[in-house]
Amino acid sequence: SDHSIEYPINPDELDQDIGTNHPSWKELYPEIGDKKVEFGDFGCGYGGFLISLSETYPDKISIGMEIRVKVSDYVKDRIETLRIIHPGKYQNVACLRSNSMKYMVNYFHKAQLSKMFFLFPDPHFKKSKHKWRIINPSLLSEYAYVLKKEGLLYVVTDVQDLYDWMVSHLSAHPSFERLKDDEEKSDILHDKLLNSSEEAQKVERNQGSKFLAIFKRL
Ligand code: SAM
Repeated sequence: SDHSIEYPINPDELDQDIGTNHPSWKELYPEIGDKKVEFGDFGCGYGGFLISLSETYPDKISIGMEIRVKVSDYVKDRIETLRIIHPGKYQNVACLRSNSMKYMVNYFHKAQLSKMFFLFPDPHFKKSKHKWRIINPSLLSEYAYVLKKEGLLYVVTDVQDLYDWMVSHLSAHPSFERLKDDEEKSDILHDKLLNSSEEAQKVERNQGSKFLAIFKRL
């Protein structure tokens, strides 16, 4: 459960290398110097999309957050192995075990992020469980806080009902505006968003539909 998650008191704490019970940025990215994390993949699962971010944006620092211990351990091992096999590469990507719904502002300063990804989030179908959806009205203001002006928030799902819910709440929020259809289609990540995560590949095997939307921080 969450009780065992060791999270920073505030984002500054992540710059400290000693005396904390959670990894610092320096420990997560030993070779990147003073560059700051700019992209976040929240509920990153097994990390397929996260790894592709590292390759698409070699100059940007990405973090994957995943709440399940075994899954986050898998992604950490996966990145460590890639770093060993490809010296000098994959230094710009790391995974943290954490609860993105609870601790977002503990990790990121105001306007720190330029891209936030929510790919195939858990649907929580029952109405009584909608509050557990990672995109929900009360959390959108926190996401707007950590996202910089003109920064982008991406959602992808195979569940039409969840898609409609996410799009309606994001559209209703004063800090977000949906990109135009052609802007969404021309995003260089468009195909990767639909195909590179493990969940995306599962949906593909099952010939399911996939829905994507991109919102800009106003
Ligand atoms: N994005 C990945 C993909 O496309 O393959 C994983 C999709 S999976 C259906 C949803 C993931 O979100 C699961 O791995 C789950 O453990 C994780 N998750 C759910 N709630 C979370 C939270 N509050 N914080 C971080 N991760 C969460």
